[in-house]
Amino acid sequence: SNTKVINFAPGPAKIPEEVLKKAQEELVDFGGTGVSVMELSHRSADFAKVINEAEQNLRQLLNIPDNYKVLFMQGGGTGQFASVPLNLMKEGGCADYVVTGSWSAKAAIEAEKFGTVNRVIPKTKKYSGIPNFSEWNLNPEASYVYICANETIHGVEYHDIPDTKGVPLVCDMSSNILSKEIDVSKFGLIYAGAQKNVGCAGVTIVIVREDLIGNARSYCPIVMDYKVTAGMNSLYNTPPTYSIYIMGMVFQWIVSKGGAKAMSERSALKASKVYNVIDNSDGFYVAPVCKKDRSRMNVPFRIGSENGDDELEKKFLKEAGERKFMHLKGHRSVGGIRASLYNAVSVEETEQLVDFMKQFQQKYR
Ligand code: PMP
Repeated sequence: SNTKVINFAPGPAKIPEEVLKKAQEELVDFGGTGVSVMELSHRSADFAKVINEAEQNLRQLLNIPDNYKVLFMQGGGTGQFASVPLNLMKEGGCADYVVTGSWSAKAAIEAEKFGTVNRVIPKTKKYSGIPNFSEWNLNPEASYVYICANETIHGVEYHDIPDTKGVPLVCDMSSNILSKEIDVSKFGLIYAGAQKNVGCAGVTIVIVREDLIGNARSYCPIVMDYKVTAGMNSLYNTPPTYSIYIMGMVFQWIVSKGGAKAMSERSALKASKVYNVIDNSDGFYVAPVCKKDRSRMNVPFRIGSENGDDELEKKFLKEAGERKFMHLKGHRSVGGIRASLYNAVSVEETEQLVDFMKQFQQKYR
């Protein structure tokens, strides 16, 4: 119904209602233990079941090969901006960074604290796409090549995996993990904060090829060390137990909906519905990203013109708010509108947004 909130937030983002309901049911008595998951020892058999099932479901959902470790860490995506170079870049070494938006830009700046960063593509005024892989200036001596699979603010997403000629590919999948099937074997390391597609803030997934583990700098903080974390099954110190529990339930929810393949089909359908309205609006709505690199997760757009008509955009957000469509405001660094369509946002909810966009255009064109 129209009175129900629809959450188009960029992150923290919508969590499937079924998961929230189950969490509510189990809040004060988890599986007959008489206590909340929050109150369980991280070394108890009950919590071991929670974390092991979460890992097994993730392994199954992404078809993760046996020579990859799955780690549940803290510090968010931003923590990994430092963990990656601390673990994978040799002292005095260098790495390649493909800067396609704010998040890869931040990762590159953080990595510069630990070594030489080679920016693989030319800096542009606006982030509106990904240059052809053939134009990338890769360094064969680099410890790794770093990409951001989906730029949450700018709405730029990879739809193909670059060939890095044997140099390990490191990928930030914070805003599109489990929205499609991936070939994990093409990556050296994948990481993702949970709070967009797979749960609530607090836990960060790291999927890392075993041979890349064990070369951390001597001064790498122990909580950031992949070898220590892997050796203790993510239980070196107290992990974010509740966030892992919620994430595990989201994995179960994805399994029940048909897995990564089903999420991929849903995502493509939802995104195409919104982009179709934009493309058929005679310039009333303007999407800044080139078509081939458009994100299925975050759809940024302007209203009225390429740079956005301030009054119209304000009206759009106000009227959207009256319909209880929440958090559609673009990131403060870019302005405009952004509709985030993560896994938990349904096709039906997306259709409601699409109907509203069409009506808004009719009214103000
Ligand atoms: N990478 C991407 C793609 C993101 O969208 C974000 C957060 N929006 C981050 C990294 C940073 O994550 P965190 O806030 O968990 O540190």
